Amino acid sequence: MGNKKEKMKILLTIASVAAISIFFTAQLYRRRRRLKRPQSCCYLHSEPKPQQSFKRVLADNSYSPFNHFNRQTDSVNEKSSSLTHPYEAEITALMENPQLLFLKTAIDYFDTKMGMQMNDSYVWVETESQLSQLAQVLSKEQAFAVDTEQHSLRSFLGFTALIQISTEKEDYLVDTIALHDAMGILRPVFADPNICKVFHGADGDIVWLQRDFHIYVVNLFDTAKACDVLSKPQRSLAYLLETYCGVAKNKILQREDWRQRPLSEEMVQYACTDAHYLLYIANCLISELKQQDHEYSSCPDDKFNFVLEASRRSNMICLQLYAKEIEDFPGESAALSILSRQLNSQGGAPSTSGETKFQGLVRRLCAWRDLMARVHDESTRYILSDYAIVALSERVPTTQADIYNTIIQADLNIDSSNLSSSLPSPSPLVCSHWIDVHQLIQDNSSNLDKIFPVILQICLGPNGSCPLSLFNYALLMSSSLKLETRIVSKQNGFKNPKQVAKKASRELFIQKFSCKSPVYHNCRIYANDGRLLCYCDRRKLEWYLCRDLAKLVEDDPPAIMLLFEPKGRPEDEDNDFYIQSKKNICVSCGEGNHYLRYRIIPSCYRIHFPEHLKSHRSHDIVLLCVDCHEVAHAAAEKHKKQIAGEFGIPLYVRKVVDSNQAPIISGSSDSMNSKDSGVSPLQLRTAAKALLRHGPEMPPSRREELTQIVMRYYGGREISKEDLERALVVGMSPHERRRLEKKKGLSLKHSTRILPDKKQENNNVIKMISTTSDPPEVDNPDGSDFTADVSYATRVDTLKEDMDFCIVTDTDTSNPPTCSDFGVVTVSTTVYNGMNSHSTEISDAKSVCVVISDGNICERSTQNDIVDSSCAGYDGNIPLKHNSKLSLLGHGPHGKQVVDHILNEYGEEGIRQFCQRWRQVFVEAVRPSFLPAGWDVLHSGKREFGEFSVYKPDKKGAD
Ligand code: AMP
Ligand code: MN
Ligand code: ZN
Repeated sequence: MGNKKEKMKILLTIASVAAISIFFTAQLYRRRRRLKRPQSCCYLHSEPKPQQSFKRVLADNSYSPFNHFNRQTDSVNEKSSSLTHPYEAEITALMENPQLLFLKTAIDYFDTKMGMQMNDSYVWVETESQLSQLAQVLSKEQAFAVDTEQHSLRSFLGFTALIQISTEKEDYLVDTIALHDAMGILRPVFADPNICKVFHGADGDIVWLQRDFHIYVVNLFDTAKACDVLSKPQRSLAYLLETYCGVAKNKILQREDWRQRPLSEEMVQYACTDAHYLLYIANCLISELKQQDHEYSSCPDDKFNFVLEASRRSNMICLQLYAKEIEDFPGESAALSILSRQLNSQGGAPSTSGETKFQGLVRRLCAWRDLMARVHDESTRYILSDYAIVALSERVPTTQADIYNTIIQADLNIDSSNLSSSLPSPSPLVCSHWIDVHQLIQDNSSNLDKIFPVILQICLGPNGSCPLSLFNYALLMSSSLKLETRIVSKQNGFKNPKQVAKKASRELFIQKFSCKSPVYHNCRIYANDGRLLCYCDRRKLEWYLCRDLAKLVEDDPPAIMLLFEPKGRPEDEDNDFYIQSKKNICVSCGEGNHYLRYRIIPSCYRIHFPEHLKSHRSHDIVLLCVDCHEVAHAAAEKHKKQIAGEFGIPLYVRKVVDSNQAPIISGSSDSMNSKDSGVSPLQLRTAAKALLRHGPEMPPSRREELTQIVMRYYGGREISKEDLERALVVGMSPHERRRLEKKKGLSLKHSTRILPDKKQENNNVIKMISTTSDPPEVDNPDGSDFTADVSYATRVDTLKEDMDFCIVTDTDTSNPPTCSDFGVVTVSTTVYNGMNSHSTEISDAKSVCVVISDGNICERSTQNDIVDSSCAGYDGNIPLKHNSKLSLLGHGPHGKQVVDHILNEYGEEGIRQFCQRWRQVFVEAVRPSFLPAGWDVLHSGKREFGEFSVYKPDKKGAD
C-alpha cells in the first residue's frame, strides 16, 4: 500500500515536471493548430448529461482518494488516511445485539399491506420538500425496505439514478438525479440504529450511497445473507419473489438506462417490485431463522444462533467503506487483463525479451482510455472496447479512416449476445478525439508521463476542447506542478508556529475576502441577428431590460436580445474574450472552493486612467484562489517597486507634517532638524494607534520611541491624547475616514453636524478604537511581531485600497485629485470634523504638509532638511494648499504621478503598453492555466455597442 502510494507520488511528480516543456508538447500543439480544431469539437458540448447538473460531487474523477464523512466536524474528512467508518461503534454494537423489532407474523403482514398484490400507486419523490416529508415518515418506522438503481455506462464512477423505498403502507421512488444535492436529508434515518433497513444483496448499494450522498447505513438486514445462513438453494431476489410471493421478475430491466425521465411504466413497475416485497420476505426469513434457533436450542452443544448470524453478516456489509480503485498506472489493470487474455487465447508463453510493441500499444491505449473516461465522465467501455484496443494495437492503423474501420470491425466481432455491442462504434469520444489515438499509435516512443499533461491541457486547459466539470477539474489540478509542491508542503505539516500562524491568517483571509457566491453569472447578450455579444452578470441584463432596450430570450441562465443595432460584433474586433463563458474557478490553478477577484492592473494606477480606458475592463479582473492571489500580489508589489525606481516616483508619501508647523518648516529651513519634524503617514498612524491602544502597558522605551514618531509630525512639540487621535486619521481619504467611522458605528452626518461634549466624544473614540477589528498591523506596539503573516496584512491593505479607489472615482470624477510632483503639499484636513470634536479648536482650513520625495533624488534633502529647494520639481515656495481626495496611506499618490507621467510622455498608447506590462507580470507570476478563452496580454479591448450601450462612457448610472 505504502509502496503503491510512493509509486503514485513519483509518477505524479514526473508527470508534472514534464508538463512544462518538451518536444512532444510543441509537436502536438502544432498539429492541433494546423487542424484548426473548432473549440466546441468535443462531442460533450452537444450532448448534455444529467450529472452535469449536480452541484455537489463527493467522488470526482481525479486520482485522489475518496473523502468520507466526519461526524465530529459534520463535514468531509480531509485526511483520507483516517479510514475509520463514521458509525463503526453503532454497527459493531448491532452485530452483537441485533435490533429486528419490526418482526410481525406473516398473517399480520397480509392485513396491513392489503395482501400481496401490488397496487399501481407509488409516490414519486423529486423535490426537497417531498424528500423531507419522506424522511419524516421514515423516522417513525421500525423498518423500511430499500433498493437502488445505478447508472454506470455514461459515467466514470457510476451514480445512483433511483432509490426505491418501501414501508408497510407505501412505495416511494426517489429521483436521485433531481435530488442529488439534497439527499443528505435521508442521512439520519439511514444511520439510525433503531430503524432496520432491509436490502437484498446490499454490497453495492451500501458503498454507492456513501459515494454519492455520504449516506451510511446502520442496522441492515440483508435478505441475501439470510438465505446464506438458512442454506437456501438460491439466494437471488428472483428466487425469493417467486418462492414467497409468487411474483416473476424480469431481469432484463436491471440493466436499463435508469437515467431516463420519465421512467417507462414497465421500469416503474420493475423498480417498485424490487423493494415492495422485501419487508414481507424479510419477515418470512426472520421467522425461519427464529424457528431454526428454537429447534437447535434443544441441542445444548450447538451455540450457533441463526438470527444473530444473519444480522452479523448483514451489518458486516455496512462496515465497508467506499474507495476509489487505485492503480500504479492509469489503465494498468485493464491492460494487464487484456494482455493475459491475449496470451491465453494464443497459448503462447509470456515474452521474456521485454515489452513488445503490441504490449506497449495496449498499455498506452488503456492509459489514454482511462484518462479520457475521467475527463469526460464516461465508463471506459463506452469509450473504446477491449477488442478495439487489441485490434488497434495489432493493426497499427495510420489514417483516420483506418482507425475507424479497425474499431468498427473489432466491435462487430463481439458476441452479439453481449449488450455492449449496441454501443456506438467508434464512440463519439473517439470520433472527436481521434487525433489522440492517431498520435499514440504513431509515436510509440514518447513517454506517456509527458503526453498526459499535454492531453489534459488540450482538453481542459485554456481554450480547452472539452467541458470542464466538477468531475474533472481536480484531475487537471493534480497534474499541475504547483499542486505538487502544495501537496508536499501539506504533507510536511505545519509544524513550526510561524506556519501555523500563516495557516490561520490564510483561513481568516479566505473567510473575509473570498467571494461568497459565484462571480460570473454567465448571462448572455445577443444582437438582434442572434449573434452572441458577450457574457455578463444579471445586473447588466436588468439594465437593458428596464429600459426596454432588450427582450428576455432565455431564462436559465438568462439571456437577452438587444432591440437596437449594436455597433460591431466582438469577433469582428478580434475581441472574442467577451463572448466566452467564464468559469468560477481560480484562473491559475482551477481551484473552485475559494477565490477572489484580482485586479491585474493595480488600482493605484488604474483609477487615474482616462475613463474610457478603465471602465468595464472585465478582461483585467480575474478570479484567483487565495494561494495564487498571494503569489500574484507579491509579484505586483515587487513590480511596483521596480516602476518606482524606473520612473523615480516613490511608492509612499515620505513625510507629512502638521500644517501648524508648516510655516516654520518652509520659512526657515535651517531652524528645522529633520529628525524632529515630518514622518511617513503610515508610520504616524501605526504609532498613534499603538499608543492609544496599548500605551499604558507598553515598555517605557517603546512608548518613548513611538511618541517621538508622533511628535515629529507635530514639529517636535509635546503631544496630548487628542493629538494622538487626530494623528490617527492623517492622510486618510474621505472614503477611508467614512469607513473607519462606519466601523465605529458612528454616522458621518451625526458627527459632522452635531458636536457632542468633548468628554463623551473622546470616550466614543477610545471605545471605538478598542473594538475595531483592523487587520493585523505591520508594526506592533511593543516591537514584537504579533502579525501572523505580513503578506496577508499588506494584501488586506491593498484590497481595501482597491475598494476605496473604486468608489472614490465612482462618486466623484469631476474633481480629480492633483498632486504636485516632489514637493511639500498642504492637505486640507477638514476631515477631523467628522472624526471628533477638534473642529471647535481647529479651523476647517486645517492643513497637513506633505513631503513627497524620492529616496534617491532627495536623500540628501530629506536628511538635512525636508524642504530643500534643490529637490526636483519643488520651487521652494510656501506649501501648496491642496484639498485631496487621495489617501496618503497607500500607493495612491505614486499611482497618480506614474499615470500622469505616462500620459504626458506617451499618451494613451503608453497606457496600453503599461497594461500589457502588468498582464505580463501577472502571467509570469502565476502561469495561469485556466484563463478564459480569448484572454490576451495584448488585449486592446474597445468596448462599444453603440448609442444606447451600457458601455458608453457618458451614460452614467449604468453600473
Ligand atoms: P439491483 O440490486 O438488482 O436493483 O441492481 C442495482 C443496480 O446494479 C442496477 O441498476 C444495475 O446498475 C446494476 N446491476 C445489477 N445487476 C447487473 C447486471 N447483471 N449487469 C449489469 N449491471 C447490473
Ligand atoms: Mn433494483
Ligand atoms: Zn472531449
